[in-house]
Amino acid sequence: MDEFDLIKMYFAPLAGPEGLGLKDDAAHFSPPTGFDIILTKDTMVEGVHFPDGVYGADVAERLLRVNLSDLAAKAATPRGYLLSVAWPKHLDTKLLSGFAEGLKSCQEQFGLHLWGGDTVSTKGPAVFTATLIGVCPEGMSTRRMGASPGDDIWITGYLGKGFLGLAEIDGQIQNQQFIDGFYKPPPRIDLQKTLRTFASAAIDVSDGFVADLGHLAKASQVSATVEISNLSFPVSVKNFWQRGPEMVQKFLTHGDDYEIIFTAHPDYRENIISLAESLDFEVSHIGQCGQGGGVTILDGSLPLEFQSSGYTHF
Ligand code: ADP
Ligand code: MG
Repeated sequence: MDEFDLIKMYFAPLAGPEGLGLKDDAAHFSPPTGFDIILTKDTMVEGVHFPDGVYGADVAERLLRVNLSDLAAKAATPRGYLLSVAWPKHLDTKLLSGFAEGLKSCQEQFGLHLWGGDTVSTKGPAVFTATLIGVCPEGMSTRRMGASPGDDIWITGYLGKGFLGLAEIDGQIQNQQFIDGFYKPPPRIDLQKTLRTFASAAIDVSDGFVADLGHLAKASQVSATVEISNLSFPVSVKNFWQRGPEMVQKFLTHGDDYEIIFTAHPDYRENIISLAESLDFEVSHIGQCGQGGGVTILDGSLPLEFQSSGYTHF
């Protein structure tokens, strides 16, 4: 099967009208009037971001979902994506059918379509890259900068699924509780109304809660103080939390959680809580922004010390 057959077979069925059937040189998008375009890209390398030899639906879901999480942090509505596939020469391209299935189910769940991409073969590991395109009413998208001293700090959902998912993939824990959450983190797209209306700043938790909160604080030139007892966890995760301080560290620094940290003026507390009632995830008020800089995590009134605040590649 050559590159063109492969595109026709696996990718063309996923195309939206902007993709021109994946038969042209580029996609064509006419942005709606009064909207900003929000773009993001993430790459996944076999053996780095997903286990060697896994090429199916899970990998595709994760690829789109981590990108969707970036759009969620910007309060954007996903519309389309460009996909780059570097496929190992020695592998049967039939394995791409599972990958395409994953793209399809994610597209259906989050309302976006394939607009184009590139397909190459490689002597190295598989590499998948997606560039996502979203829209947001002009001037309404959130940024890492914008928080003020005195703002509340909020977070969606719960931390720990990234760490526990990877621990389960590595065989350190068993029972299939967290693997699904690793491959299918839930991008918090539904938070967009809250963010557009009330948030002063936002970021998604990809590198690690402490690191990402630090990025927001730095961009906004505020300090951030969080009390860990304000973080909520499902019982399955709490069981690990109770194993002690090391586990606490892991949950707060590992990353891959794809929750959204955001800040808002305290006047909006009730509005945020009432909007959250219609969401299928929790939204918790966990701390405050202040003057100065840096992140402080309090356990009771005691600040925790961290060896590392998150994941970096280099
Ligand atoms: P060109 O050589 O002009 O760059 P290609 O032959 O690479 O074009 O691609 C032909 C069409 O197929 C283009 O519309 C491109 O966007 C699309 N395409 C190629 N690879 C992919 C892919 N992995 N996913 C989605 N669309 C793709
Ligand atoms: Mg090309």
